[in-house]
Amino acid sequence: MTIKYVAEPFRIKMVETLKVLSREEREEKIKDAKYNLFNLKSEDVYIDLCTDSGTNAMSSEQWAGIMVGDESYAGSKSYFKLMEAGKDIFGYEIIQPVHQGRAAEKVLFPVLISKGKYAIANMFFDTTRAHVELAGGRAIDCVVEEAKDPTIRAPFKGNMDVEKLEATINELGKENVGLVVMTITNNSAGGQPVSVQNMRDVSAVCKKYGIPLDIDAARFSENAYFVKQREEEFKNSSIKEITREMFSYADTFSMSAKKDAIVNMGGLIGIKEDDQELYQKVKANCISNEGFTTYGGLSGRDLEALAIGLYEGQDEDFLTYRIGQLEYLAAKLDNAGIAYQAPVGGHGLFIDAKAMFPQIPYYEYPAQALAIELYKEAGIRTSEIGSYMMGNDPDTGEQLEAQFEFTRLAVPRRVYTQAHFDIMADALIAIKDRADSIKGYRIAWQPMILRHFQAHLEPIV
Ligand SMILES: *Cc1c(COP(=O)(O)O)cnc(C)c1O
Repeated sequence: MTIKYVAEPFRIKMVETLKVLSREEREEKIKDAKYNLFNLKSEDVYIDLCTDSGTNAMSSEQWAGIMVGDESYAGSKSYFKLMEAGKDIFGYEIIQPVHQGRAAEKVLFPVLISKGKYAIANMFFDTTRAHVELAGGRAIDCVVEEAKDPTIRAPFKGNMDVEKLEATINELGKENVGLVVMTITNNSAGGQPVSVQNMRDVSAVCKKYGIPLDIDAARFSENAYFVKQREEEFKNSSIKEITREMFSYADTFSMSAKKDAIVNMGGLIGIKEDDQELYQKVKANCISNEGFTTYGGLSGRDLEALAIGLYEGQDEDFLTYRIGQLEYLAAKLDNAGIAYQAPVGGHGLFIDAKAMFPQIPYYEYPAQALAIELYKEAGIRTSEIGSYMMGNDPDTGEQLEAQFEFTRLAVPRRVYTQAHFDIMADALIAIKDRADSIKGYRIAWQPMILRHFQAHLEPIV
């Protein structure tokens, strides 16, 4: 199957020169980096797909906004512009800026979750899980079963398993569940979308048991685009209408603006009703952790760029192009018989490295081996989401086996062009052709926690 690349709905006004190293130079660099891609200098990377977070290209409008940003400590003009944008897009009464997504979690979650309480999500993103635990709670995932099989092509693999959610609430006792979180799109499941119907069903369960519902909203526009494509009821709705509908079912949202709001730094908290009691607690946490309410850890110029980026991320031509890029790459991989979490999600493509390297066991990190090969092959930096990232059992010290061995190609917004995508596909195909000869890695040194950022690896020969 061929698929047409959706041409960029913009033209380029400013460029950033990239260095192209030779294969020999790259082999030297990755060896010096102890086979850990986080240790590479960005200037030694040709196509950086490490993350789509904060790596987006701002528009000329946003850069113009940077110049007019009001840097007043209190009551900045840019703050009020952001308030208007947030209320307009989400239909929420209260909007609070913070410096990034995990700051939103840090400010909001302790207000909703206390010691011994549970929080249940379709799937928690890692910082979100961490902030539930830091607030004294426990985090439980209830994602639909089809999310766990990369080969099943279902339209909404990000959904909550609503029956399982209700059963879990009954099992734990509703008084012990402090919060339900819907992550849209579902990042950890591969950027998979959540349907509006699923949100309605989850909301009904939350109302029945009196549990507040929060949206982890990093990729809310990509999610709305998928809803428009895949959910019959919304095929004639605008992205804005779908977003409004989706958010109307929750009580609060916490958001990393470094994704769909197309800025390099920023985050938001939203409260649907004019709940001053809740807002007072959020304000108190914000002022002590992030800064005064009218800047929330951001510069005035950041507030301004964010107010503009929220709208740009909702533009349908932009979303058609953005999701189109991923679908273009996915179609090439389908033709080459390369397996990935299918159908492709919103912000990245998650290659099934277990399928590509059946000879490499989980404790020799197949997805890390693929990430290293991609760098050697074409200077592409990706990240491993598998047993290497998962780490060791804290009690026994033994390597844990992850459910998936994914190599993630996360795509920054408005940054790479069709030729870059062809390079990604060609590199993956070249590696697949010599897949039998690829060997795994062992860990030479590792820190106690979050080892994947720092560990040293060596090839098994
Ligand atoms: C990125 C992300 C976060 C955390 O946001 P930061 O801006 O990186 O702090 C939380 N939840 C989801 C779903 C994310 O993708």
